Amino acid sequence: MVSELTSTVTLTGIAGHKLELPTGLFINNQFVPSKTHNTLETLNPATGEQLAVISAASLEDVDLAVQHAKAAFKSWRKSHGPVRQKLLLKLADLIERDADELATLDALDAGKIFGESRHMDVPNAIEHLRYFAGWADKIDGKSLRIPNGFAWTQREPIGVCATIVPWNAPLMITIWKLAPAITAGNVLIIKTAELTPLYGIKLAQLVLEAGFPAGVIQILTGLGTVTGKAMSQHMEISKLAFTGSGTVGRQIMIEAARSNLKKVTLELGGKSPSIIFDDADLENAVFWAVIGITAHNGQICVAGSRLYVQKGIYDKFVEKFREMSLKAVAGDPLLQDSTKGPVISKVQHEKILGHIQKGVEQGAKLLYGGKDVEGKGNFVENTAFVDVGEEMSMMQEEIFGPVAAITKFETEEEVIEKANSTSYGLSSAVFTNDVSRAQRVSQALEAGQVTVNAWAMLNPNTPFGGVKESGFGRDMGEDALDGWTVLKTVKIAILPGKL
Ligand code: NAD
Repeated sequence: MVSELTSTVTLTGIAGHKLELPTGLFINNQFVPSKTHNTLETLNPATGEQLAVISAASLEDVDLAVQHAKAAFKSWRKSHGPVRQKLLLKLADLIERDADELATLDALDAGKIFGESRHMDVPNAIEHLRYFAGWADKIDGKSLRIPNGFAWTQREPIGVCATIVPWNAPLMITIWKLAPAITAGNVLIIKTAELTPLYGIKLAQLVLEAGFPAGVIQILTGLGTVTGKAMSQHMEISKLAFTGSGTVGRQIMIEAARSNLKKVTLELGGKSPSIIFDDADLENAVFWAVIGITAHNGQICVAGSRLYVQKGIYDKFVEKFREMSLKAVAGDPLLQDSTKGPVISKVQHEKILGHIQKGVEQGAKLLYGGKDVEGKGNFVENTAFVDVGEEMSMMQEEIFGPVAAITKFETEEEVIEKANSTSYGLSSAVFTNDVSRAQRVSQALEAGQVTVNAWAMLNPNTPFGGVKESGFGRDMGEDALDGWTVLKTVKIAILPGKL
């Protein structure tokens, strides 16, 4: 049963630590209920129990946030770089101060292992804020020569921007958008995922404490089909950065085309290959390959879900991979002993088990796992299939679960062709000690990023995003700023001088 909306909710974290959060939408630096009294219930995926009932933004609330954003942009666009820099650095410091609480919210709401969020997601968010704060006074253009004149380009903020983010790494992905958007002088409306809204409320409290002017950063909790849709259709939102599924990404593009042709960038899913050559350091390859598909239960867009292992190392690799994967201890993500949390929802749980069932029906050999973990909550065993054919659905479709598809290959040419044989192109990993092979294969892979002898290696200084159906536009690095600025050219004619 969904409870009534109260003005605050109290959550219990590690060792009984209490955390009180407002339940309202963060509009114009205030927490307010939805104008239409819409609400949203959020559940703990480890237990299935209700965590909170909070406000959910309607079309009217989105419009109100846009009007405040427009008003804020008038002065924010003229703010000096060092002013924006100081505020972003302050926000980074506050996130660092409250890192335990933010990791607690990731554990409660997203089912993320506390230590994983505390030592990976939260520091990554802080690093992004500090990295992009450094750009605030360095977003320049070029000077250009033209006959009888002079020209230059300047990169200007776009204006009222929005972002719609997913549930799998909620804080981290939000900051990947917030940091470049704000440093470039935009105002930003954030829609959190309906499954993980609580971190967004905490982040809003920190935005307020950091001292950002009202309307510069607004955070709306709400449903994709209501709040997200209203944002994608809005005539006065000029840019929408989306991270999520390809299905919703396509809908957003359609709505953008139907409305005001807002600029859209999409970070979508993946079916990323990890390629292990005979000459690789076996221990290192196993370590990263296991993390690549079991971290956060494979609910990571860059999950290394397709493992191609060369013939000579195959048997040893599979044995060690199995050994390490099965060491996972499933349990409450807040508890220190747990190394594996639940998957996000009942729906996701059923979807993963459905993919596993389909794999068996299509003739892939189940090496281990494949079942529900007994008890409350949405747990699925770490699972691996071997002898998986390229045409099988588990080689082509993103499962977003702890399911590895392992297959044997013989030659470099063969594995490149197989690795490139999906519609996705987000990330890939190559394990080899041959530096020339590392370069050849990296060049040949169709992916937005390639890591050699490691997995993911996300860093604020290195651009991140997809090719093919994994999307377009980049988070991270200087290139991310292209997605949050418009280029203006100014040309000045040089008039003949009078003697
Ligand atoms: P999703 O597409 O269902 O939801 C993402 C966001 O879109 C949520 O905030 C949701 O509320 C919103 N949304 C849903 N319907 C909408 C609509 N009609 N209009 C506007 N917004 C709408 O995806 P998900 O289940 O939250 O996340 C899983 C997917 O995201 C996977 O495919 C995964 O690969 C992808 N993902 C990609 C990256 C990346 O950086 N490339 C990162 C994380 C997740």
